[in-house]
Amino acid sequence: MKHYSKKMLEGLYVGERLPIAQMALRLECTPLTVMRHMRKCGIVARSASETSRRSCDCVEILRRYDSGESVSSIAKQMKIGRRRVISRLKEHGRKIRHGAFYLVGKKRAERGLEWRKNISLAKVGLKNPNWAGGKKEENRRIRASFEFKIWREEVFGRDDWMCQKCNVRGGRLHPHHIENFCSVVEKRFEVENGITFCEDCHKEFHRRFGRKGNNSEQVMEFCDESHKHQKRLAA
Ligand SMILES: [Zn+2]
Ligand SMILES: [Zn+2]
Repeated sequence: MKHYSKKMLEGLYVGERLPIAQMALRLECTPLTVMRHMRKCGIVARSASETSRRSCDCVEILRRYDSGESVSSIAKQMKIGRRRVISRLKEHGRKIRHGAFYLVGKKRAERGLEWRKNISLAKVGLKNPNWAGGKKEENRRIRASFEFKIWREEVFGRDDWMCQKCNVRGGRLHPHHIENFCSVVEKRFEVENGITFCEDCHKEFHRRFGRKGNNSEQVMEFCDESHKHQKRLAA
């Protein structure tokens, strides 16, 4: 097996901000191998939202906004869409100021400092919508982790990238936890505890059985039905 040094991997992932798939092409191996090596070296994966975002423009947008610039002006100056500006600001817990704020014109400078202080206080702790500590946040982190990505790939691979309910291969696949993800913590990353469903079948499953306390009986019932259905069709 080839050896990839931490420095080399970091150079590509952190330095060049390449996605895993691109790294795999560059290193002539599979994405899974890249992820394994990165995990071994202790390089932390970017979350999905981070991947789609250019972090440099966040800093610039926040700096401009916090010094009183309007959304439209930022969009114009930075040559990006207003929507993009607004969504970045919201992600960072900023309340979007509207027209009335700018009408007071000169007063803006006077309240600048006080207002900025309030903004930074509002970002602290519980008030910050980006507060990392809730259950949702924890689940999101796990789903963005290497362990989860590897688990998912392994489940898909074992099932030959085929939905185990409708037997369609490829497309939008979801890994489903047979024993519930939240309640059976120790099986979260066990390949045997995963099953491949397509997006539609996965939705259908949870429509019928809900999202809490899911178990293997439900999966058997769900998949068994389609096999009976196929036998009927074949007969
Ligand atoms: Zn399906
Ligand atoms: Zn599921």
